[in-house]
Amino acid sequence: MIRVLFVSSEFAPLSKTGGLADVAAALPKALRGLGVDCRVLVPGYPAILAASSNWRQIATVAPLAALPAARILEGRLGDVPALAVECEPLYERGGDAYSDGCGREWPDNALRFALLSRAAAALGSGVRPTTWRADVVHCNDWQTGLTPAYLHFGNGPRAATVFTVHNIAYQGNIHRDLVAALGLPPSCFDMHGVEFHGQLSFLKAGIYYSDHITTVSATHAAEIQTEALGHGLHGLLHARRHRLTGIVNGIDTVVWNPAKDPHIAQRYTTWSLRRKRINKAQLQRQLGLGVESDVPLFGMVGRLVPQKGVDLILDVLAELCGLPVQLVVLGAGEQEIEVALQTAATRAPRRIAVTIGFDEGLAHRIQAGADFFLMPSRYEPCGLSQMYSQRYGTPPIVHATGGLADTVTHCTPEMLSAGTATGFQFQSFERNCVLDAIATASSTYRNRRTYRSLQQNGMRCDFGWQSGARAYCKIYEGLHMQMAAWQRNDERMA
Ligand code: ADP
Repeated sequence: MIRVLFVSSEFAPLSKTGGLADVAAALPKALRGLGVDCRVLVPGYPAILAASSNWRQIATVAPLAALPAARILEGRLGDVPALAVECEPLYERGGDAYSDGCGREWPDNALRFALLSRAAAALGSGVRPTTWRADVVHCNDWQTGLTPAYLHFGNGPRAATVFTVHNIAYQGNIHRDLVAALGLPPSCFDMHGVEFHGQLSFLKAGIYYSDHITTVSATHAAEIQTEALGHGLHGLLHARRHRLTGIVNGIDTVVWNPAKDPHIAQRYTTWSLRRKRINKAQLQRQLGLGVESDVPLFGMVGRLVPQKGVDLILDVLAELCGLPVQLVVLGAGEQEIEVALQTAATRAPRRIAVTIGFDEGLAHRIQAGADFFLMPSRYEPCGLSQMYSQRYGTPPIVHATGGLADTVTHCTPEMLSAGTATGFQFQSFERNCVLDAIATASSTYRNRRTYRSLQQNGMRCDFGWQSGARAYCKIYEGLHMQMAAWQRNDERMA
C-alpha cells in the first residue's frame, strides 16, 4: 500500500479561505477509498487542535536556523488520519490561516510555512522521526513549496514529491536574506533553484525541486506555460512540461448534495427540482430582496479579488439594473471591491444583496436558491463553485478560462440536444461579453424546458473525486517505482 503525506495549509471546514481547504478534506478521503494510505499534514491552528481531543505526540522536529522546534501530533480530521505540526508561537493565534482577519497578513508567514514544509520533509526523509514514512509527499501551493527543496538537500533516501499549483499568483516571494534563516544552503539561491527576480520564492522552489508538478485542470496546465498566465514561471513550467499534469479537481459530493444539505430550507433532487424555488424565496426574504419567483436571481460566492472578475460585474451594474434580474453576492477580500458592492446594494436593495464575510451556510443557500451562478474569473485554475452550482441545478455563467472552460458545457443547440449543455461560457473578459451571457441566460430562464434541461444536465454530471484520485494514484505509483529504481542503483554504486 503506497503511503502518501498530503500537506496543506488549509483544511475544510476548520481552516478555510478557499478551494484548497475543500480539496485537502476531500481528495485524501477519495485516495484512501482507492487503497492509498494517505494522511494529511496541517499546521496546528487552534481550530485544528480543538477538532479532536485525541491528538497524541508521535515525534518532534528539531529547531533549524530560525525555525523553532515543533511537535508532530497524530489524530484524525473527520474520516482522514491526520498529523498536525504543533508550534504554539507560530500557529496558535486568531485570524485565518494567513492573516489577522482584518486583511493584514501575518509578518512571519515565511517562518510559519517553512516550518510546515520542514515537518513534511522530515516525514518523507530517510531519517524519519516516526515509524510511518511517506513514499510520496504531496505538497500544495507556495506554503508547502520548500518541502521538495528540504528533501532535495537532505541526506539519504527520500520520498518522491508531487507539487500541486492551485494558484500560481500566490508565490510566497520573500527577501533573499532569509535563505539561511530558513535553513537552506546558500547554493540554492540561483536561477536554477529558489531565486526568482532577486527574491526567494517558495512557489518556484516547489516547481523546481519537485519530482512531478500538477495543476488543477488540463486547460490551466497549458495556460501556465504561457507568458499571459504563467506569472513569470511559464519558462520553468514549459521546461518541465513532461513532468507537468493537469488534473481537474473533484468536489465532495456528500458535503455538497442538495438532497441532504443541512444548510438549506428545502432539499431536492433532479426529480423534485420544483422545490428549489422554496430556497429561492427564502434567500430573497433573508437578504431583503423582492420575493419574485419570475425574476432570475444570479448568485456569486468567492474571494473579492481581481482574479474573480467581480470588477467586471461592477462595471456592468448600471446595465444589469436595467434588466429584470436580481444579484446576490457573498465574499470578502479587497476593501475597494467590498465598498463598491455594498454601495450598489444600498442603492438597489430589492435587486442587489451583498454580504461581506465568510459564511459557509449562506454559500450553500446561494447555490441552492439562485437561478444562475456567476463566475466571471479573469483566470481560474479549476474553480469549485461552478461545479457546486451545477450539482445544485443552478447553471453557471463563466469566463471560458482554465477549469471553468473544462467543467462547464456551453449551451448550444447541439449540446442541448445531446443532453450535455450545463451553463454558459463567454469567451473574452469584456463587459459586452458578460452582459450578452447574462442576457442569454435570462431569456433561457423564460424558456422553462431549456432551463430545466440545463439544470438536470448539470445535476447529472459526475464531479466526484473518483477519476481525479485515480489520476493522482497513477502519478504516485510511477514516482514510487522510479524512486525505488534510483535507490537500488545508488546501493549498487555504493
Ligand atoms: P478559490 O480557491 O480560488 O478561492 P474556488 O472556487 O476553487 O476558488 O473555491 C472557493 C471555495 O471557497 C468554495 O467552496 C466557496 O464556496 C468558498 N468560499 C469563497 N468565499 C466564501 C465566502 N465568503 N463564504 C463562504 N464560502 C466561501
